[in-house]
Amino acid sequence: MDHQLRCSTISRAVQIGTGVDERTGAVSYPIYPSATYRHPGVGQSTGYDYIRSGNPTREVLEQALADLEGGSRGLAFSSGMAALTTLFLHFSTGDHLIVSEDLYGGTYRLLDQVFSSFGLATSYVDTSSSASVKAALLPQTKALLVETPGNPLLGIADLAALGNLCRQNNLLFIVDNTFMTPVLQHPFDYGADIIVHSATKYLGGHNDLCAGVLIVRTPELGERLYFLQNSTGAVLPPQDCWLLMRSLKTLHLRISRHCDNATTVADWLNRHPLVNRVFYPGLPDHPGHQLASRQMKKFGGMLSFRVTSATVARRLLEQLQMISFAESLGGAETLITLPAVQTHADIPVADRQRLGIDDTLLRLSVGLEDPQDIIADLEQALAGQ
Ligand SMILES: *Cc1c(COP(=O)(O)O)cnc(C)c1O
Repeated sequence: MDHQLRCSTISRAVQIGTGVDERTGAVSYPIYPSATYRHPGVGQSTGYDYIRSGNPTREVLEQALADLEGGSRGLAFSSGMAALTTLFLHFSTGDHLIVSEDLYGGTYRLLDQVFSSFGLATSYVDTSSSASVKAALLPQTKALLVETPGNPLLGIADLAALGNLCRQNNLLFIVDNTFMTPVLQHPFDYGADIIVHSATKYLGGHNDLCAGVLIVRTPELGERLYFLQNSTGAVLPPQDCWLLMRSLKTLHLRISRHCDNATTVADWLNRHPLVNRVFYPGLPDHPGHQLASRQMKKFGGMLSFRVTSATVARRLLEQLQMISFAESLGGAETLITLPAVQTHADIPVADRQRLGIDDTLLRLSVGLEDPQDIIADLEQALAGQ
């Protein structure tokens, strides 16, 4: 790329890695599988020593991720959970975290069943209420981790209000931006310190890659988390770094289509007699709609809906033809899940019931197909029930 020209993030995403390999001028940045590098002399290095500590392909990806989110440094991991594990290792025994209660089930499991035994305490709070977050503060609270929109009910947290609260109380403000991607929401604009992604989802975008990302605002945090990444070792392999770079080149196009399709499908579901409620931030009756309109560029590709009974939910899943009954989200193919028995199974039954995650609730990751085909599949699967 011409370095005089300051392109928009769309163009910068398309141009990831292009021309960076000066020796060959490669348009697609190469995969460097080498596990180790020859030193020019004693005490000298090319900048690369060992694959876990630094890899050229990973470096290009990590810089691109930092650039897209507007942070100072990006770090790529072998999964979203590996990124979160590395992040939680930043804390010490006796520390306390406040976390969204409407969150990814695996993050809940990691804190509740793994980090709790190292003395890291967590409170699960409705982060769409800033007052509830404030009420959960303890003297030993070190950080707030927010998912917005929440999972699976798509509740919206007020990033500006929470950013202020974190600044006033000296908390690290962490935002899991998996559902939004840098195309739709910029947590650093609201004072976030660290952004987390499961790149397995929209960033990868094709249901064929497992990856995680941390992006930090300050170089100091970048150094600290790089130290933890290198010390613990859950780095993203170079082949997968390349695949993720390739995916990022079409991120803007894909996200735009995901949002448009989700809006069309949400409107249709909202009018179906067997659907009691649709949870989509783009619908005017969603409790977070106004806030979402300010904070997000569009409303995303995820929605949940409640059908009239558990039997309707089960039959719907059995009768779908094109749409896959499968976990995960954010890929080209439309996927549907039953959160109570899949993604959120580790959340205790009482908490699930309180949150409204029961066996009538379905979550749809609206894909890139023709939206009329997605609707036609849902229509035939709901027909005759
Ligand atoms: C999937 C997901 C994760 C975990 O990421 P993996 O890549 O599956 O390890 C974390 N947060 C959110 C919001 C997710 O959807």
